[in-house]
Amino acid sequence: MSRYVSETKTILERLGVPAGALGGQLVARSPLDGGPIGAVKPTTPEAADAIIGKAAEAFALWRKVPAPRRGELVRLFGEQLRANKDDLGRLVSIEVGKVPSEGLGEVQEMIDICDFALGLSRQLYGLVIASERPDHRMIEQWHPAGVVGIISAFNFPVAVWAWNAALALACGDAIVWKPSEKAPLTALACQALLMRAIAQFGDAPEGLSGLIIGERDLGELLAEDHRVAVVSATGSTRMGRAVGEAVARRFGRSILELGGNNASIVAPSADLDLALRAIAFAAMGTAGQRCTTLRRLVVHESVYDALLHRLRTVYGAVAVGDPLAGETLVGPLIDRSAFEGMERALDTARAAGGTVTGGGRVAVEGAEAAFYARPALVEMPGQTGPMLEETFAPILYVVRYRDIEEAIALQNGVPQGLSSSIFATDMREIEQFLSAAGSDCGIANVNMGPSGAEIGGAFGGEKETGGGRESGSDAWKGYMRRQTSAINYGRTLPLAQGVKFDIPG
Ligand code: NAD
Repeated sequence: MSRYVSETKTILERLGVPAGALGGQLVARSPLDGGPIGAVKPTTPEAADAIIGKAAEAFALWRKVPAPRRGELVRLFGEQLRANKDDLGRLVSIEVGKVPSEGLGEVQEMIDICDFALGLSRQLYGLVIASERPDHRMIEQWHPAGVVGIISAFNFPVAVWAWNAALALACGDAIVWKPSEKAPLTALACQALLMRAIAQFGDAPEGLSGLIIGERDLGELLAEDHRVAVVSATGSTRMGRAVGEAVARRFGRSILELGGNNASIVAPSADLDLALRAIAFAAMGTAGQRCTTLRRLVVHESVYDALLHRLRTVYGAVAVGDPLAGETLVGPLIDRSAFEGMERALDTARAAGGTVTGGGRVAVEGAEAAFYARPALVEMPGQTGPMLEETFAPILYVVRYRDIEEAIALQNGVPQGLSSSIFATDMREIEQFLSAAGSDCGIANVNMGPSGAEIGGAFGGEKETGGGRESGSDAWKGYMRRQTSAINYGRTLPLAQGVKFDIPG
């Protein structure tokens, strides 16, 4: 049993999780000590089918509710999150092992996207387009898309759902969520808070927000169900390939947020003090378990030795341990298989000529069943082998470069395209990195690491990262369907492109 079991029970009660949802065969474990913190009743395929059916019925009503009124529901949900931020943030830390500020940060991200979606609910702008025909105009409107299925990963167990849920609800969609099987308790907690907001709202249709808990087969069910108009899936590239294909087969829409393999370039003009702090956070924060974690460092040969000397010291000194039991920056890996994946990648890197600083399991008192790892810094002779894959653990590979073209080619030379950054003060190199011939990623930062995005921008990446965009900017359009209308307010029927079709009589 985990030492956090009774605290978890108390938090779930406070957040209003119904007792009936607990006590099933799906066991939730805390990676902090590896022990069970609760058990959940998995949703049967028959029940999931009924939940999707209910969501489709709810959608038929919700789409007619005026958008600013829909925004009111999102506002109420944001208020619930504000009032329960400490509990939910703590539960995130217990269930997936994040340091407290990151657990709370995830809930803050949920609050921020609710604020964003509330404002959006008074916008959802379309266009008026000039028509070539006399006495005509054209308009473009955005209508709700339908049921949005959300498949989420363990490492952002609540924020990624909220990105989708807040936008989809404001856009007039119903939602059905399949959370990670590694984080069912935070999912129950989020659903309970949304249910409270729905109760306060008063007249939202029943079934507007569904939750289906279980293994990947429930995700497959969502991907294949023609009643689900949009499937927004966050997780590994392997999962995205399966979901993307299944949704495409039935001509549904998918928003895919998949694996990253993110690099930073350290140019000769970089501020090395700033770079060092940014690299440490981006590579070791969240124990290397962010999709945007810094995994490859491309360093100019003129600053390589100075930077690596300092990085090796940081890697040797950083505190690893239970973040709820003491001061630590690096918490646990999610489970044994994550640790084994890290070990395998380090072995392959050594075989490819890499020199490893750090790595290995860290013993933490009272947490013998947990998997804590010392972050690893791996100096590679070139960009090969494990550098081309995403290993979801704190491994930072380092290679040297000679000129900026080579650095950009290395940054782009992997199958994934999520996030990237450059440390430089030379404006020409910065602009080259941001240009059409620069970074090929969905995110390209300057003088910061590749992780830690704000909700105001569109989030997502290219290539094997899936091409989807979520969160800010105009990502809301992914949750709506576009309709173009031409309106004739004259008495004649001029045809476009000068086509004549004069019928006799
Ligand atoms: P995962 O792919 O193992 O699981 C993610 C979710 O997909 C889970 O809910 C799982 O049950 C479901 N799933 C798995 N196979 C499926 C299938 N064939 N059909 C339908 N559903 C399926 O990922 P994980 O280990 O939970 O998370 C880590 C991965 O997620 C990393 O690759 C990380 O980069 C990625 N990630 C990406 C983003 C992003 O925005 N790009 C954000 C967070 C995490």
